[in-house]
Amino acid sequence: MTRDARRVVVLGGGVTGLVACYRLLEASKAQNLSLDIHLIEASSRLGGVIETEFADGVLMEKGPDCFLASKPEGIELCEELGLGSQLIGTNERYRRSFVLRGDELLPVPQGYYLLAPYQIGPFLTSPVFSPLGKLRMAMDVLLPGRRGDDDESLADFVRRRFGREALERMAQPMVAGIYSADPEKLSLQATMPQFHQIEREHRSLILGLRKRMQKRGAGEGVSASGPRYGLFVSFARGMGVLAEALAEAISGVAVRTGCRAEALERFERGWRVRLQGGEEVDADAACVTLPPSAAARMLEKAAPGISGELMSIPSGSLATLNLVYRAEQVANPLHAMGFVVPAIENKTLLACSFSSTKFAGRAPEGKVLIRAFAGGEAASRAGLSNEELAGRLIEELRPILGITGEPEASAFYRYEESLPHYLVGHLEKVERIESAIEATPGLALAGNAYRGVGIPDCVKSAGDAAEKILGDLRTINS
Ligand SMILES: Cc1cc2nc3c(=O)[nH]c(=O)nc-3n(C[C@H](O)[C@H](O)[C@H](O)COP(=O)(O)OP(=O)(O)OC[C@H]3O[C@@H](n4cnc5c(N)ncnc54)[C@H](O)[C@@H]3O)c2cc1C
Repeated sequence: MTRDARRVVVLGGGVTGLVACYRLLEASKAQNLSLDIHLIEASSRLGGVIETEFADGVLMEKGPDCFLASKPEGIELCEELGLGSQLIGTNERYRRSFVLRGDELLPVPQGYYLLAPYQIGPFLTSPVFSPLGKLRMAMDVLLPGRRGDDDESLADFVRRRFGREALERMAQPMVAGIYSADPEKLSLQATMPQFHQIEREHRSLILGLRKRMQKRGAGEGVSASGPRYGLFVSFARGMGVLAEALAEAISGVAVRTGCRAEALERFERGWRVRLQGGEEVDADAACVTLPPSAAARMLEKAAPGISGELMSIPSGSLATLNLVYRAEQVANPLHAMGFVVPAIENKTLLACSFSSTKFAGRAPEGKVLIRAFAGGEAASRAGLSNEELAGRLIEELRPILGITGEPEASAFYRYEESLPHYLVGHLEKVERIESAIEATPGLALAGNAYRGVGIPDCVKSAGDAAEKILGDLRTINS
């Protein structure tokens, strides 16, 4: 590294931080820039919540198990990294899902897209809704559109268009399955803007979705019934492949794991990172890819305005429990991607993936792998330890899937404050943060707290942050 190399420090070694390093490195090669990139990660490994474990023929995902194929940034990155041939889709035979009612799993009606139906026949014959509930939902075709562009909660939106039953029986569990959050609090425009747009353009959601479907044909974002499993991809060897490939691709970066950043301060030549233990790293630019509360603490002194905004983005916790059974222990044939659980069912269980059905090669012949999800907050509120929470999930699954005996293997993971909640008004908050960052040379923020929580969103966010840093470095005096 030459003496005049510009130093960039990237905080956080999850997928966002890794992609930010990768983009900076690629740009430095392409533009013949001399960059000295440092990655600081608090834990002992890279990848953040992405982690795959393989033992005894079973492939367990600790965090994400797939990503959305319809947002191009994810797949494009995989292709750039030479991973294209390792991508796999979900099992085509069983691209359907269920919703729990009592102890019964009812199929999500064909042609139901997250919050709204767009095919009438399957919806009318579905046992998920009562006749009165269906009547209320069908009123969507007559109701006037909402005036104005103000944000509203997902729950208010669904109640307004389709009534309470549609919210309780379908929208709430779908949303909780994706965001692990309460739709009463989540912003419609920040989480599912497509529904806001459809109402603006077509007034009726049912009619608007039908038109979109006809125009676009299947496979363009509104095709799968229930959670969009048909639109998701993973790797034959699990999501850990992505983190490993990125870690390899950034071999020119000075990586420090087991190293917690405590504060980011300005000094005359740029940014100073204070590390746990008192060490300092000086840099021309800093890219912060930490969860919002950690990023807020980091910037408390140097950028109190941004820090305050970040502090007001709460994050939810999520627990996952992988369970391996012998196939004969599970009466349910698991011929689906999984199921979601409405909050009104009063269960700890949020959702369940039938992992060995969803993707090939997840469990050996004669065994099945299922993955249960629980919202960490409910567990924390109930004061449950990890063991108690896992035990409760196992007990709840027994009658639903007809399970006998104990699991042959299990693995439980709890991610505290891992999924940011986009509250009503989130987009305006993000715009304020972005303008403040724009006006702050040498500083960039990226991650799942801003414009999408999925992996492709993080990839995009990291790319944008790298560009901002590169632009700033061109103009900042050395
Ligand atoms: C259980 C679970 C399942 C999910 N499933 C899916 C899915 O199927 N598909 C999908 O697209 N998305 C999914 N998501 C969301 C997606 O995985 C995440 O949004 C994304 O991986 C976040 O990446 P990140 O790098 O921004 O954050 P993280 O992965 O959280 O990484 C942040 C990193 O910062 C480090 N750090 C924190 N504080 C400090 C500090 N002070 N100093 C240094 N380092 C620090 C942490 O150790 C961590 O490594 C899931 C998330 C969870 C939790």
